[in-house]
Amino acid sequence: MVKVAKFGGSSLASAEQFEKAGAIIREDKDRIFVVPSAPGKRNSSDTKVTDMLYACYETASRGKDFSVRLARIEARYQEIIDGLHLTLSLREEFEKIKKNFSEKAGSDYAASRGEYLNGIIMAEYLGYPFIDAAEVICFDKKGNFDAEKTDAVLSKRLSKEGRAVVPGFYGALPDKTIKTFSRGGSDITGSIVARAARADVYENWTDVSGFLIADPRIINDPQAIDTITYRELRELSYMGAGVLHEDAIFPVRRAGIPINIRNTNRPEDRGTWIVESTCQKPDYVITGIAGKKGFCSINIEKAMMNSEVGFGRKVLEVFEKNGISFEHIPSGIDTMTVFVHQSEFVEKEQKVLAGIHKLAQPDTIEMESDLALIAVVGRGMKATRGTAGRIFSALAHVNVNVKMIDQGSSELNIIIGVKNEDFEAAIKAIYNIFVEAQL
Ligand code: ASP
Repeated sequence: MVKVAKFGGSSLASAEQFEKAGAIIREDKDRIFVVPSAPGKRNSSDTKVTDMLYACYETASRGKDFSVRLARIEARYQEIIDGLHLTLSLREEFEKIKKNFSEKAGSDYAASRGEYLNGIIMAEYLGYPFIDAAEVICFDKKGNFDAEKTDAVLSKRLSKEGRAVVPGFYGALPDKTIKTFSRGGSDITGSIVARAARADVYENWTDVSGFLIADPRIINDPQAIDTITYRELRELSYMGAGVLHEDAIFPVRRAGIPINIRNTNRPEDRGTWIVESTCQKPDYVITGIAGKKGFCSINIEKAMMNSEVGFGRKVLEVFEKNGISFEHIPSGIDTMTVFVHQSEFVEKEQKVLAGIHKLAQPDTIEMESDLALIAVVGRGMKATRGTAGRIFSALAHVNVNVKMIDQGSSELNIIIGVKNEDFEAAIKAIYNIFVEAQL
């Protein structure tokens, strides 16, 4: 078996956390490739090393003295090295970083040092070879990730080394300029390494025991999801359920490699398995609930709209021309509603309205702001009757008015629109009826 183990920032924030990660790796000889993040927060008031690096570079790029900021970063690493009783010295690395910062090497270079240095420590601690991600994670000239080139270069290198530490979050352009993924991007590196290693599993070690059925800031101590399919995950992540970077799914999904989200602080927990498909019955009819606030609806009415071919296209063309993507478009005989992100829409509002009037000549246009969308997701819904009915009676019970409902044709999800202020109450009611009531 080949396992790729990616450790997040909180799993490597201190020597103590490093020891936990080390014990996890040593406990299973299949964990041959390790992808570390930069040291994260040691407690809630702490600062991530990545953020310290961005701030330090910002000072450097303004031509100001950044030595104090850089010394603080060096101290974070030294604390880990001392705590692990390693003889390693990063002095020369920090000299190089100082020089490159003074020469304005770029903020991507700056941020990437967080993972780079943590990778060096991890490799030393484990006795694994270190592979600089700049040599194996390839971006093209325009800065787009080059999946095929990376796979060829990386798989060759991994099989040559046999086992290795590959730092997350960054790679390089053909001219060797360092380029990072977006924030949280070490998850993507882990997935790329898993694909290149033809791994049996991509383990993503973090500080929670998997995906939770609902947001713990809304539901007190929610249940964890045992197994979730990629499609379900996509629906939930899109609606704001965090834990894994969205772009981390593609490389492993293509290669048919499952992801196992695990908790570094509770390695005995099974975590969540993310799989292509499964015949394993979910514990509940729904797999998860997620949602976001801050949407607007634009309700367009026109008599005989139903018989006007091309009406929808004209309306959507206006949104397209203004660079606004729509979320949902529920429609009736003579009505059509477009849901958009409020933040994207507000400043272009009048332009969009004028555009719709001009192109589609509606009778009226009404708008409503401060709406929330909630996605109730579950492969189990397909085989179960009455799911929508149960959702609505639960919402009626807590006096939440449903503004919109949209069921995807896959029967994998039901989207519900409510007022922002009803968001939390709605999620609680749905969680209670499907999960709490069945415990
Ligand atoms: N260290 C980077 C960040 O804070 C990448 C990562 O941790 O995944 O975004």
